Amino acid sequence: MEKKSCSHVLLVPYPTQGHINPMLQFSRRLASKGIKTTLAVTNFISTTIKPQSSTVQIATISDGFDQGGFTEAQSTHDYLARFESAGSKTLADLITKHKNSPHPIDCVVYDSFLPWALDVAHQLGLVGAAFFTQNCAVNYIYYNVHHGLLTLPISPSVPSSIAGLPLLELRDMPGFIYVSGSYPAYFEMVLLQFSNTEKADFVLVNTFYELEQEVVDTMSKVGPLLTIGPTIPSAYLDKRIEDDAFYGLDLFKLESSAATAKWLSNKPPGSVVYVSFGSLSNLSIQQMEEMAWGLKNSGFYFLWVVRDTEKAKIPADAEGEKGFIVGWCPQMEVLSNAAVGCFFTHCGWNSTIEALSLGVPMVAMPQWTDQPTDAKFVEDVWKVGIRVRVEEDGIVRREEIESCIREVVEGERGKELKENAKKWKELSVKAVCEGGSSDKNIDDFVSRLIKT
Ligand code: UDP
Repeated sequence: MEKKSCSHVLLVPYPTQGHINPMLQFSRRLASKGIKTTLAVTNFISTTIKPQSSTVQIATISDGFDQGGFTEAQSTHDYLARFESAGSKTLADLITKHKNSPHPIDCVVYDSFLPWALDVAHQLGLVGAAFFTQNCAVNYIYYNVHHGLLTLPISPSVPSSIAGLPLLELRDMPGFIYVSGSYPAYFEMVLLQFSNTEKADFVLVNTFYELEQEVVDTMSKVGPLLTIGPTIPSAYLDKRIEDDAFYGLDLFKLESSAATAKWLSNKPPGSVVYVSFGSLSNLSIQQMEEMAWGLKNSGFYFLWVVRDTEKAKIPADAEGEKGFIVGWCPQMEVLSNAAVGCFFTHCGWNSTIEALSLGVPMVAMPQWTDQPTDAKFVEDVWKVGIRVRVEEDGIVRREEIESCIREVVEGERGKELKENAKKWKELSVKAVCEGGSSDKNIDDFVSRLIKT
């Protein structure tokens, strides 16, 4: 029988930076293995980005809010409901449009936040692969809640015991559980990730086996799972994909890499604290002020990402003599610069796995969603960072910020953290290099797409 390769994979991310980035990089990995890939972003997102790739095509679907995206919706619930109806229709149209082209779409890799995309793929006779952008630990907690194996609310005094995971205090749980009743529509969405995964032809997770061995083994028992991360541009890891410089689809106005590289260029190795809370977190005015003073008082150089919408919250002269505040920066480039010795992070999963893979120790200041669990692993499992102490009023004081930074950059514990960070960097590179755990899984995925 003649063999036909699956030539065209359509990837559908949830339209935020932390979901577009890993799917884009996974597209590039697939492209490097001879697969044609198209990334489907929403109409609104397509107006805000400047694609520059020859390897990954960009196509559009609708989330029902083509002019303003999420900001146009009345509520999260409204957004998700409209996205499902407009998204299902426009995704089906996009696939159908390609049907008689030289490269019909064979497979849809869909963000697990959008389970309806699997129904569309299957209705049109295509292969459907769920893509989990967050790690296995967090997903396995959601899985346990979804299946009634972890009953809510959980006790604030008795740690939870979940197979494959360390004992988890309430504060280590994802934000939706930690603050019971918070963000109900998002909580429903993360639980619904498991509404049809048993029907998916593949379940791909943006992590690597060595990082989460126990929970990957445990979760694999409930369904076939392929770890394919870290989804970081090859240029920073194994340097195999040299096709173009398409590292990001930034949704924010980027400070040029030349400007950040210039600022970093005359700083001694390991002397700069890089600070970012990702694309979504909003700190209170009081917290921003504590942050500004903590950074200043530490006496270290700092490169602080403060998105334009947050800028009004920082005190005058927050930069001082040793700071550089930017609206958005090329994070991977910054983290891989030898001058950076500490990442003060909200522990979004992309930021966490990027720091792990680039060997940068962290101060963890989680805010919501998966971040508290990521911070627990950073501190206690991977031992590559320390987590800040939050006061009863919910604020992390400037003294705490200063002392955590000192500990990581120049303290005794910092030495151990740096050693561990180096180890994880090596393991991460190994996972994506030829024959590594993630590389083998990607090869497995690609070869199983080959149809007879
Ligand atoms: N990022 C970036 N420039 C910045 C800040 C963040 O490119 O100035 C990227 C970062 O590398 C990561 C993503 O934005 O890939 C943020 O994802 P994460 O999961 O860490 O956090 P989220 O934004 O989802 O809270």
